[in-house]
Amino acid sequence: MTNSLIDTFGRIHDNLRISITDRCNVRCFYCMPEEGVTYMPHAEILTFEEIERFVRVAVALGVTKVRVTGGEPLVRKGLPVLIRMLSAIPGIRDLALTTNGVLLAKHAEALYEAGLRRLNVHLDTLDRERFLRITRRDELDKVLEGLEVARQLGFGPIKINAVAVKNLVEPDIVPLAHFGREHGMEIRYIEFMPLDAQGLWSRGNVLTAGEIIETLSREVAPLIEIPDRDARAPATEYRYADGLGTVGFIASVSRPFCLNCNRIRLTSDGKLRYCLFAIEETDVKGVLRSLAPDEEIAAILRGTVHKKWLGHEINSSQFVAPPRPMYAIGG
Ligand code: SAM
Ligand code: SF4
Repeated sequence: MTNSLIDTFGRIHDNLRISITDRCNVRCFYCMPEEGVTYMPHAEILTFEEIERFVRVAVALGVTKVRVTGGEPLVRKGLPVLIRMLSAIPGIRDLALTTNGVLLAKHAEALYEAGLRRLNVHLDTLDRERFLRITRRDELDKVLEGLEVARQLGFGPIKINAVAVKNLVEPDIVPLAHFGREHGMEIRYIEFMPLDAQGLWSRGNVLTAGEIIETLSREVAPLIEIPDRDARAPATEYRYADGLGTVGFIASVSRPFCLNCNRIRLTSDGKLRYCLFAIEETDVKGVLRSLAPDEEIAAILRGTVHKKWLGHEINSSQFVAPPRPMYAIGG
């Protein structure tokens, strides 16, 4: 199928990330405020049928990869029902879920039966005290249990998202790497991005991919970059020279990858965004809830991609953080 989601810089968009809720059962400090979160009212959140219709239109325009995220997607009731609906759409080659893993043990089987195979589980540390400090909830054991249940059910690949915050997670880098190698799960270190709700980000708080690579090469095993496995994937991937596993880096701050970006995002309240850092967004919910034909949804998709900027400006003094924090956009 030809892809008609091509922006003015020639980038082809085949990757859609859908946030299905802004709610979460933990409070990672780099994403949510500790208290006083006002969630969107249920009536504002897209229904599964609305999401499915949107995805069908997007797939007809060339989207082949869909990731379900949040907030925490597993706090939304009936997620396996949505997964089943999306799995049934012909043309989706790659369906994945990003979760904090707290409720994974409980729902993994139903998700597997619904057709899900790919998981990204968010885990920054294996240390209970630091887990509590980061997420403000004492749920490490549940995440580890969720990973084990998912592994036994046969999910794969299972990747682990670890947010790299300086002066905090340095003691976790090596233990997490060993954990990933032992369990056949790729760790993906994500540089701390200016998307937190409390404005805590500064460049000095970012533990960079370069620094982590140095630590891993010195203390685990030398790393060899995997050339262009998929030039448009956000992560740069390396393999350990001893043959035991791979590791990825999403270096949005120190090595922005905007020139290869292939992603668009739908928020849980039905706004379409061409970038995680976009300031503007386009409403899709109104169209989905009117009697408008699919062609109007397609026009919004094309129009949003057409407006896409060349890239975010995290590294410039002009940078303005988006009005929505990470949990309300969908990471
Ligand atoms: N709740 C799920 C989770 O935590 O995986 C899905 C949503 S969360 C917003 C998606 C991903 O965003 C997380 O895996 C986490 O690694 C990442 N994330 C959240 N805040 C971030 C920040 N300020 N900088 C970098 N990554 C962040
Ligand atoms: Fe929740 Fe994920 Fe944000 Fe952490 S990163 S607060 S788990 S939405």
